[in-house]
Amino acid sequence: MKQYDVIVVGGGHAGVEAAAAAARMGVQTALVTLRADAIGVMSCNPAIGGLGKGHLVREIDALDGVMARAADQAGIHFRLLNRRKGPAVQGPRTQADRKLYRLAVQDLLAQQGGLSIIEAEVADLIIQGDRVCGVVLTNETRIRAPAVIITAGTFLNGMIHIGDTSWSAGRMGDKPSLPLAARLREIALRQGRLKTGTPPRLDGRTIAWDKLEMQHGDDVPEMLSFQSKSPIARQIACGITRTNASTHDIVRKNLTRSAMYGGHIDGIGPRYCPSIEDKVVRFPEKSEHQIFLEPEGLDDHTIYPNGISTSLPADVQGDYVKSIGGLEGAVILQPGYAIEYDFFDPSGLRPSFETKAMKGLYFAGQINGTTGYEEAAAQGLVAGASAASAIRGLNAPQFSRQNSYIGVMIDDLLTKGVTEPYRMFTSRAEFRLSLRADNADQRLTPMGMALGLIGPERRVAFEDKLAKLDVGRTILNTHLYGPHQAEAAGLQAGRDGGRRSAFQYLGMLADQPAAVRRLCEEASEIHDETLEQLAREALYDQYTRRQVLEAAALDRDSGQLIPDSLDYAVVGGLSAEIRAKLQQRRPASIAHARAIEGMTPAATVILLAHLRKLGRDLSAA
Ligand code: FAD
Repeated sequence: MKQYDVIVVGGGHAGVEAAAAAARMGVQTALVTLRADAIGVMSCNPAIGGLGKGHLVREIDALDGVMARAADQAGIHFRLLNRRKGPAVQGPRTQADRKLYRLAVQDLLAQQGGLSIIEAEVADLIIQGDRVCGVVLTNETRIRAPAVIITAGTFLNGMIHIGDTSWSAGRMGDKPSLPLAARLREIALRQGRLKTGTPPRLDGRTIAWDKLEMQHGDDVPEMLSFQSKSPIARQIACGITRTNASTHDIVRKNLTRSAMYGGHIDGIGPRYCPSIEDKVVRFPEKSEHQIFLEPEGLDDHTIYPNGISTSLPADVQGDYVKSIGGLEGAVILQPGYAIEYDFFDPSGLRPSFETKAMKGLYFAGQINGTTGYEEAAAQGLVAGASAASAIRGLNAPQFSRQNSYIGVMIDDLLTKGVTEPYRMFTSRAEFRLSLRADNADQRLTPMGMALGLIGPERRVAFEDKLAKLDVGRTILNTHLYGPHQAEAAGLQAGRDGGRRSAFQYLGMLADQPAAVRRLCEEASEIHDETLEQLAREALYDQYTRRQVLEAAALDRDSGQLIPDSLDYAVVGGLSAEIRAKLQQRRPASIAHARAIEGMTPAATVILLAHLRKLGRDLSAA
């Protein structure tokens, strides 16, 4: 019988990071997956990063994970989302060549020592008492390990739906995982069904590109990994088109033929990735919805029409696609579909993602009720590093709401559970001014180094960067400058007439940090890249201190009671989703409100302000 320290089941985004992290920490790791050539496959959209998700990718990278490096190698269209907003909410994203991404992931794993890849299906777990001791493959081979990480994605009891046709599958072209699903259901973990959908894939040669608006990537691409300098692959543009009244008519007329609306699916779908059916039903006032036509690869004609996922029958998909500008002659290469699958309530997990029900058994990725590659990958990394820490007798990595989006996700999943697919947003973080994509390495790489997660190349680069930042901070904070000196240097002096450090002036210089060198000559010793990073730090310096106070105030006010009669319809500023949830749950206190799935720190502040106003109005009356 073979023996490893950690067995990872599944080679999707969670499995890849789990296996790579455990192996980086020096424990003998096996990655068992249905198809070795499908390791790193992107099941749905060919893109990595985005709002909130880009933060997770940078955090994975800060811990020397695989995702950002693979995405940079495969990236064919880089854009920094929210560029016009502050750095705290900007999200780096790249569209990736599907094949190049998969190959880059496989290549990075092949370079990782201490990691064996086994192509097989895990059908069962070896269990002794209250702990897992290994896995059993379908050919009855037994592999032992004190830690088993399940990252089976959408494969557990997976069921594909197109119109009224459905069949068992893990995703299109892959068989489902049935015996393992049955075994996991026995282990007394709370289980449910979720669903997600994907759009039809189009033949790019049949699209009238000349009729479409084209979107190019950024002139200066923002890479996902702290270690990458510039894209490797050829960069291409994507097209933009829109649905119209005719598209909506076709969808509306055929709603009962949709698997989702025809009553064939019980699972709940991702609120934030609505299907075209959902869009037409939920937003009847909208006359159009934007569609990005994203090429799936440089030597691939397949186009991913981002924004029209569906479970309508194939003939209806053909009709509505042809109703869209530029797609009148488009040929569908693969119809869109919905998939329903088992997930397990993440409130049954410890912060390490070890299940409370069984020692040594970890869950990561879509199995925990999340959606998205980045969310899955981040969980995989946590589970892999935690399992390896347990084996090596080290303290488990500590992720918190204060130090990372990973910590926000862990806390949300464990304390609020999941009833609908969970995805990351910057609004979920109360400390988002300090949890920026640009400083993920400063927040997390030291923890990674202490755990042994970080390779020598990154360690050297990070220590060098930190040293430069320290020197830069010292230079900028050495002298104070009065308003006259600032004005003489062509800078805007503060309104209060007070003296400020060059660091403080840097925080007011927005996108022209080099101007601070006119005030502080020594700043010319600071390299441009370091100065830009310090400018982001300086910009948020005063706000991050306020943010800590606000978060402390939120904790202090958790005991505040909420009258049962409160009319949430009149609480201005709440999103429709949160308002509906509050209206339905009617929490008795702020603490109860904060525990509701989807409740954000910003919404809590709004609710508290409303309660205070009510209190003032009452005492004035
Ligand atoms: P997966 O990437 O699904 O990987 C699971 C892995 O487990 C596979 O390698 C599989 O071979 C392996 N496996 C399963 N069972 C076994 C077994 N018994 N033995 C061995 N290996 C096993 N995300 C979004 O953010 N937005 C979307 O709109 C979206 N739409 C989607 C639509 C579809 C149709 C699908 C399939 C997925 C969609 N996703 C979407 C989700 C995204 O693909 C997942 O969030 C992400 O891939 C989850 O990663 P994972 O590692 O948990 O699982």
